[in-house]
Amino acid sequence: MRALTFHGRRDVRVDTVPDPVIQQPDDVIVQVTSSGLCGSDLHLYEVLTPFLEEGDVLGHEPMGVVAETGPGVTELSVGDRVVIPFNVNCGNCWTCDQGLQSQCETTQNREMGTGASLFGYTKLYGQVPGGQAEYLRVPFGNSLPIKVPSGPPDDRFVYLSDVMPTAYQAVQYADTPADGTLVVLGLGPIGDMCTRLARHLGVRQVIGIDRVPERLQRAEARGTTTIDLAQGDREVRAAVHALTQGRGADAVIDAVGMEAHGSPVAAAGQKLASVLPSAVGQKMMQTAGSDRTAALLLAIELVRRGGTISLSGVYGGAATPLPLLTLFDKQIQLRMGQANVWRWIPDLLPLLDDDDPLGVEGFATHRVPLEQAPDAYRMFQEKKDGAVKVLFIPEP
Ligand code: NAD
Ligand code: ZN
Ligand code: ZN
Repeated sequence: MRALTFHGRRDVRVDTVPDPVIQQPDDVIVQVTSSGLCGSDLHLYEVLTPFLEEGDVLGHEPMGVVAETGPGVTELSVGDRVVIPFNVNCGNCWTCDQGLQSQCETTQNREMGTGASLFGYTKLYGQVPGGQAEYLRVPFGNSLPIKVPSGPPDDRFVYLSDVMPTAYQAVQYADTPADGTLVVLGLGPIGDMCTRLARHLGVRQVIGIDRVPERLQRAEARGTTTIDLAQGDREVRAAVHALTQGRGADAVIDAVGMEAHGSPVAAAGQKLASVLPSAVGQKMMQTAGSDRTAALLLAIELVRRGGTISLSGVYGGAATPLPLLTLFDKQIQLRMGQANVWRWIPDLLPLLDDDDPLGVEGFATHRVPLEQAPDAYRMFQEKKDGAVKVLFIPEP
């Protein structure tokens, strides 16, 4: 089959690789019909490259049709339409029962010291081949796939694999009072969906911050107040304070995560952190040392005293210092983690009705044949051509 494979930093290619086969009795093989490109893929593409091996198949946001079932599969049949959660979880262990599927005890990676295995996330998370491919082997076929009805287009359901549960968890963890203010840092697919969900769930004031004009416009068009990060650091801070009686936001979602060294965005973030107003801010920057934490430092700055930061952005720093004095002094709650996809599915399915209140059917900006995936990675990383959400479509 054809699949998107890793060959080095900023070097992914579509290669012919062996077809996946049933390995366990409860495996299924899914013929992929759509597969998302995610900000998390950019981390692999740019930053986490030491964890990758040549030929690793990437992608963790697939949906498709069951093509083959193992002899132990009783809950699915060939031809069923399914979305595959990005975390590989058994659905049966103690942590899965707690709704902590991203910590599944059956698929935790004890050798690497990481949580549940993830599709397409290399040896860092269980070396499970990903779904930017024509076919995908899916373990736990009786419990992991999300069965969806036939009829509506893939766009209706494909975001159940990652974007929707990740954004939903971020909004839940932010726990903004209904009459309060939520700031969302980053208006990529995750941040954009956070603003849509927060507004739909009734948060009074939602403020989105980014520096990509098309992303700001897109959030604005759906009623989110936006602030352009490019206008200057002090202005951003002043704008949030002006909208919150000088207190700061009740909650801030960081939907950015680490940015690669040397990128223009990272440089801007570093500049921002270096002009934080307080002496503590200055100190914080010196100890933080890395521009990869720029968005989190901004979140700490923008949240009010006693507020909450909800972190869905992924940070890969194993020894990244945090400004604990400020966190403690401001009494900030910090909640984070990979999305526990299955935990939120029952809440999310009713939001995917024909009224499409979240606008999922117009959410993708690009639908690209899988063969053109390498160009699409570049476009998405460079935020060119208005790219916000890219879906890969394997040729039938
Ligand atoms: P993305 O890269 O498309 O979006 C990030 C956005 O942040 C960009 O638009 C960028 O311009 C903006 N940005 C950069 N620095 C900023 C700053 N200091 N302040 C405000 N905005 C800034 O990615 P995405 O697909 O939306 O994903 C966002 C993050 O969420 C990534 O880190 C990704 O790995 C993570 N993620 C986490 C989970 C999870 O389970 N927790 C799941 C999916 C994605
Ligand atoms: Zn993703
Ligand atoms: Zn489990």
